[in-house]
Amino acid sequence: MPSVIRVLVAAGVAAASAALVAQTSSSYSSSPPMNTIAERYVKLVLALGQHDADYVDAYYGPPEWKADAEKQKVALEKIGADAAQLIAQIPALSPSERGDELVALRREYLRRQLEALRARVGMLQGKKLTFDEESRALYDAVAPTHPEAYFASMLDEIGRQLPGDGALVDRYEAYRKQFLVAPDRLAGVFDRAIAECRARTRPHVDLPAEESFTVEYVTNKPWSGYNWYKGGYRSLIQVNTDLPIYIDRAIDLACHEGYPGHHVYNALLEKHLVRDRGWVEFEIYPLFSPQSLIAEGTANYGIEVAFPGEARTTFEREVLYPEAGLDRSKAAEYARIQALVDKLAYAGNEAARRYLNGEIDRAAATAWLARFAMMAPPRAEQRTRFFDTYRSYVINYNLGKDLVKQYVEKRSGGDPARRWSEFVKLLASPRLPSGLR
Ligand SMILES: [Zn+2]
Repeated sequence: MPSVIRVLVAAGVAAASAALVAQTSSSYSSSPPMNTIAERYVKLVLALGQHDADYVDAYYGPPEWKADAEKQKVALEKIGADAAQLIAQIPALSPSERGDELVALRREYLRRQLEALRARVGMLQGKKLTFDEESRALYDAVAPTHPEAYFASMLDEIGRQLPGDGALVDRYEAYRKQFLVAPDRLAGVFDRAIAECRARTRPHVDLPAEESFTVEYVTNKPWSGYNWYKGGYRSLIQVNTDLPIYIDRAIDLACHEGYPGHHVYNALLEKHLVRDRGWVEFEIYPLFSPQSLIAEGTANYGIEVAFPGEARTTFEREVLYPEAGLDRSKAAEYARIQALVDKLAYAGNEAARRYLNGEIDRAAATAWLARFAMMAPPRAEQRTRFFDTYRSYVINYNLGKDLVKQYVEKRSGGDPARRWSEFVKLLASPRLPSGLR
């Protein structure tokens, strides 16, 4: 409902202008109001979207801003220069603003989002960054490096669970076949998973009554699932069925893309920041920006928040296995093995770092993923296509999850109710990845 949003935005601009008038005798008067800077930022993101089809992940602001960006097709050089100028115009916090943490976070967040935009402009102009330089510039974080020995010890442990001859990845693939969800059961299984994730999330999150999403099954994509946020508390969730889908994917996907993951994150930003405060910059989501580490990190950590302890395995065994027609006596064992495999997540970062730094080619990256991340060759190959498109974005999933987990658990001190409240507070605020440490 963009008309409602526009009215609120206009009210926000008026309030900020009034604040500026009140400050004219102070040292804060030389900058435009924050809402004007925010509007210019949105327009710069839209302008950069004209050069980079993957850049604008979501936009639900005024349609005419988007139409203008398409018409004007501003050159990269000017987008970069305008971003630099805008960063310089961000005003310092006035003493009266210091008491509102969200207002302080907003300044730093917008500044850092603009710096990431400048870095992306540089990349599109041909500037070469190493994997770590790129992730710092775009996502405000650098993933730790692990030697092969780090993964080898985990692989030994998994190998003991899956005894037999042949390569471990082949043994794992053979073992996993018994957990495949047949294509005609997929929608039924996902629907049950989504309903459960929603039921577990609702008591802890003040979700807008009109929130909802639709699920579509698609093929031929470099990702396995995607949440396209449409505004008005609605999402389109797409599931890629190119590769076989196993039973554990249902909860992963329902939590990550839906509740309490991306769908809830976007809905809370829209409610608390866009509608309640009139902060237009949250009507747009530039994919290659620090916002993505928070988005992916919360979406992945949200799985544990929604299903603490044994809750996930119990629900899978009692509800999802029967729905998929699978043998539920295997549920606990499979969950144990999957937990070990999940620990290999950082192997994906290593493959991406080496591949994107030009140290190894696609075939070597695929082989590395098969060996150290236990990905079957077709999945490993799909992963390298993901590297091509999204590059150092890969760190947002595992490093993002670890940073979010540390942040929330430190603040909640082991109390499950506080874990939810701290998690929801993070979802609804503009905190930077470097601010999680
Ligand atoms: Zn995601």
